[in-house]
Formats: sequence, C-alpha cells, structure tokens
Amino acid sequence: MTDPRAIQLIMTLRRHGIADGKVLDALERTPREIFVDKPFESSAYDNTALPIACGQTISQPYIVAYVTQELNLEPQMRVLELGTGSGYQAAVLSPLCRRVYTIERHRHLLRQAEARFKTLKLDNVVTRHADGLEGWREQAPFDRILLSAAVDEVPLILIEQLKPGGALIAPVGAVPKSNDFAAVASVSQRLERIIRTENGIKREELIPVMFVPMVEGLPHDGEKKG
Ligand code: SAH
Repeated sequence: MTDPRAIQLIMTLRRHGIADGKVLDALERTPREIFVDKPFESSAYDNTALPIACGQTISQPYIVAYVTQELNLEPQMRVLELGTGSGYQAAVLSPLCRRVYTIERHRHLLRQAEARFKTLKLDNVVTRHADGLEGWREQAPFDRILLSAAVDEVPLILIEQLKPGGALIAPVGAVPKSNDFAAVASVSQRLERIIRTENGIKREELIPVMFVPMVEGLPHDGEKKG
C-alpha cells in the first residue's frame, strides 16, 4: 500500500504545477524512504533535498518531478543519467522508458543505489562506475540525457551522444564553492534543455535551480563515505 505521506507529496507536486499523470504515478510508486539515510526517514516525503553519503544530496521531489516531466519520455526511449546519487531519480525514470543508464563517480553511492534497484526489481536500470562527463559511448546514442549535477557549460561530447531529435536537460551555471550560506546564495543556476536537431542544436531555458556540482574524474582510493 502507498504510504499516506507519498499521497500528500503528490498533492503538493500537483499544486506546484506538475500535471503529467504518468510522472505523478511514477513518483507515487517510488518509496523515497528507501533512498534516504536512516536519520532522515521521517523527512523522506518532505518536498526538500536531503543529505546522502559522500557529501551529496538526494534531489527535491519537485525537481525530480519537473525534470522527469520536461524530458517528455516515451516507453521505447533509452535514457542516460549522469549522477546516480541515491538512485531516486533513476528509479522514477524506470517505469517511464525502456532503459535507464546511470553513471556515478562515487562507488559507495553506486553500490547503495544498485541494492535499492534490486529491492524494487527495477530490472531496466543499468549502472556504471565512471566519470559521467564522458557519457557512455558504448551505449550511445540516447533519446534523452539528464545531468543530475551542475556544469558551467554542457560538454559537446554529451550532446554528440544524443540521437537527432533527442534532448538533454542539465543544470547550468556557477556551482557553490562551499556550503557557506553566502557562497550558496550568490550562485545562479538554471535548468537548460538542449535539443539536437538535424543541423545543430536548439537551447531552451527552463527554471532556476540549485544542484551540487559535477566533478571531473573519479575520487582517489580510500574514498570517504561520510
Ligand atoms: N539523481 C540523484 C542526485 C544525486 S546528487 C538522486 O536522485 O539522488 C548528484 C550526484 O552526481 C552525486 O552523487 C555525485 O557524486 C554525482 N556526480 C558528480 N560528478 C559526477 C561525474 N563526473 N560523474 C558521475 N557522477 C557524478
């Protein structure tokens, strides 16, 4: 049975303008409490981002819903996500497309996310421990690409891994250098949608957002879990 808190959350998302029934269904059926750490279980259905291991965050449900809606998914589509984190966004995408390819640079986070996909029997989610900034060349081209961490500029190498007519959504703009309030407040990021057309690209600005930064390369051995 669906957690009553999940139903409450869906009503909040509707009030904030999320109207796509399939997207709302996917969120309603994804138990967010298994994607957060124990101390945050009681806040699992709040419409807020929460801390996860490795100094990262699980995105705010509204942002997950908004991005998923703006991806305009169809059942046959193959989707690449960069920045698996807790795995929540990938789990929400899973029932809406054919296959989700998700890449994470922190091995610890990836292992936790993989266990969650297994528990929920999300057999169409494929994972990889790598630097997502290089995309996933062997599996390209994709119908959709989603960056779950912010970049100053969307790398061309990612746009090249889109099918013609395919779309990429990314948080673009300055990323905070620290968690210090002044540093965070001075940051301006926006969500951008880039559509690959037959002869170039089309860029659209969506909404202002706040994501953790995309970091190049893999963490060194002895990666911290805290
Ligand atoms: N989609 C996630 C959000 C996680 S936060 C969720 O629903 O929980 C963003 C994630 O991007 C972090 O886990 C971070 O480690 C990861 N990340 C940052 N730079 C990366 C890179 N270059 N390659 C792969 N993952 C990256």
